[in-house]
Amino acid sequence: MPDEKYIIGITGGIGSGKSTVANLFRERGFHIIDADDVARDVVKPGSELLIKITTHFGKDILNRDGSLNRAKLASIVFQNQKEREYLEQILHPKIISQIIIQIEKADVKTVIIVVPLLIESGMDKLCDLVIVVIADVETRITRIEKRNTVDRDEILSRINAQISDTERSENADIIIDNNSDVNELARQVDKVITKIS
Ligand code: ADP
Repeated sequence: MPDEKYIIGITGGIGSGKSTVANLFRERGFHIIDADDVARDVVKPGSELLIKITTHFGKDILNRDGSLNRAKLASIVFQNQKEREYLEQILHPKIISQIIIQIEKADVKTVIIVVPLLIESGMDKLCDLVIVVIADVETRITRIEKRNTVDRDEILSRINAQISDTERSENADIIIDNNSDVNELARQVDKVITKIS
């Protein structure tokens, strides 16, 4: 990675508030690369990876328009560790290389990457600063239930499939506690900005 760039990684479990934190940084003028956007892009219709996924999981995994039904795929892989590992093993290298390309292309000094599996994928090693967003499991479940039409059991199985906040926090330079309201979250973001400026 070019020396002149300062790379901040934001991670956290599902529903912890990573995207909300990233948006607060975006509103304050920071350049954000979102791994979820990259993950969507690498499986777009016609991509080599979508063909691989369809060959493995069957055509039922596609929407009528030929795009990937991500919710369906997620519900399969979060119930089956082997399938999850298969999917991660084909997706992650491509997502990581695309993120690196986007970092290099970004014409700014500080780049923020938002990556759900930052630590698990080893991408934290690319970062100059690792921010882990944490929130209590119950709070996360309530927030996700409000956001999506996914039931509690499915949310819990996703939370349990991921590493814990304790493990994430061990790899953090900065921990953002998102158990309070968004104003408090913004205060913590401003504190980080003061620290890195
Ligand atoms: P993640 O990207 O980590 O999955 P999000 O940032 O999407 O999490 O947050 C999950 C949901 O909770 C979203 O609907 C978001 O608007 C909401 N949310 C995040 N932080 C707070 C907060 N401090 N108070 C209330 N709702 C929040």
